[in-house]
Parts: sequence; C-alpha cells; structure tokens
Amino acid sequence: AQIMARGLPKQKPIDGVKQIIVVASGKGGVGKSTTAVNLALALGANDSSKAIGLLDADVYGPSIPKMMNLQGNPELSESNLMRPLLNYGIFCMSMGFLVEETAPVVWRGLMVMSAIEKLIRQVDWGQLDYLVIDMPPGTGDVQLSVSQNIPISGAVIVSTPQDIALMDAHKGAEMFRKVHVPVLGLIQNMSVFQCPKCKHETHIFGADGAKKLAKTLCLDVLGDIPLHLNIREASDSGQPIVFHNSK
Ligand code: ADP
Repeated sequence: AQIMARGLPKQKPIDGVKQIIVVASGKGGVGKSTTAVNLALALGANDSSKAIGLLDADVYGPSIPKMMNLQGNPELSESNLMRPLLNYGIFCMSMGFLVEETAPVVWRGLMVMSAIEKLIRQVDWGQLDYLVIDMPPGTGDVQLSVSQNIPISGAVIVSTPQDIALMDAHKGAEMFRKVHVPVLGLIQNMSVFQCPKCKHETHIFGADGAKKLAKTLCLDVLGDIPLHLNIREASDSGQPIVFHNSK
C-alpha cells in the first residue's frame, strides 16, 4: 500500500468545480463526444439551478465546437485565464477554440499532455456543479495522466456492441480501476437500426455486446442508444439531440 501511495501522483482539484465526470471510450468513432455533449445538456435540463461545463480533451479531433455550435477565441479574464464559450447554458472549452480547424495536429505525446493541462487549469470555469470531460479515445499515457491528476467523481464508458470496440472498452474500465476512478457504468451506442420504412431492426454492430461486458465487469448499463439518423443530423447541425428534443 505504501508503494501504491508513493506511486500515485497528487491529485489537484479544478478551481470552482464540484464534480468531474469523464466520458471515455477505447476506440474512436463510437459516440463518445455525442454522449458527452448530450450528458452535459441532460444534466442541465434536469436541474436548471446546476451550472454545467464541458471540456473537450479530445485534442486530436475536437468535435465539441461543431456539436455545440460554437466558434471563436476565448476572452482572457483579469487573472489571464481563458473564459469558456457558452451555448445552450453549457460552459465549453476546446482546443478547437484555440487552433484553426484545418491546422494539422502533429504534437508529440508530451505536447498533447501540456495542451490538455492548459485546457483544464488555465480556464476560468467560475462555479460549476458538474464538469463533463470528453476524453481522447484510448487508454494510453495521456488518458492515464488525466485520470491521475484530477479528482474524477466517475467515468462513463461508451462502446458499440462490436467486439473490437468492447475489447478496448474493457481496457478502459481496467485503467480507471487501476487509478481508483469509480466507473459509473457503460453506455451501449449504435446497438440497433430500425428501418424507417419497414421498421425492420438490424443490429449492425451486434446486439448486446456492451451489456455482456457490463455483466462481466459487474458494471451498470447506463443507456442503450440506437443508431438513428436524427442523432447524427442533430450533432452535425450543432443542435444536440437532447436540446433539439427539448424545444
Ligand atoms: P467519438 O467521440 O467516439 O469519436 P462521435 O460522438 O464523434 O464519436 O460520433 C461519431 C459519429 O457518429 C458522429 O458523426 C456522430 O454524429 C455519429 N453518431 C454517434 N452516435 C450516433 C447514434 N446513436 N446514431 C447516429 N449517429 C451517431
């Protein structure tokens, strides 16, 4: 236990932030950002007295600006911290606000880490009840380091029911356990597609893979989301489905 205690770096809270929830996935393209955005909106919609932030830590492919219909450079506060951009009542910060959309992101590991560090620490978050962090996909050094350096209340892992995605989701769950971050549960995404014409259901990526994995890992299934055109269109139009459906 002593070696463990010495091995774990000290966690530093984020000023003004009460609860940090990370949304992670092993593989890219499984719907992690879509989940993070809609989770942030749902938390706010559930209780309008709560202040919610959304941090896009997916510095390789930031998608929060497009999904939240936000662009432009953050202003600086008097203490030289970046002010998050606001839309749909959610305070957002993303690498996408700091570099051109078309700029190549060819940083090496260390620079990625320092970029994330800046996005976390050099932001004037004000007082937040929840900060939802859209993690970069995978379970490498960067993800590990983020999980060790900030006090995370819980992690949500997103996966499709496909074997290859599940294997990586499994690794993700193990990583969080190793660094003592509670895993809140799994979200199975893109589990079924219903033909809008004949209503026939097709399990394009498999049916229950994430549910089975949750059972193996003794985790809850927090949600099971179909593959649906409205979800994709809502994301691409910058009006996430949770906002769109609440209008
Ligand atoms: P990740 O963050 O894991 O890379 P994204 O959230 O960016 O994945 O999703 C990848 C693409 O799939 C996006 O174009 C998104 O709009 C779309 N998408 C995600 N979930 C669904 C879904 N349930 N139905 C339809 N499209 C989806």
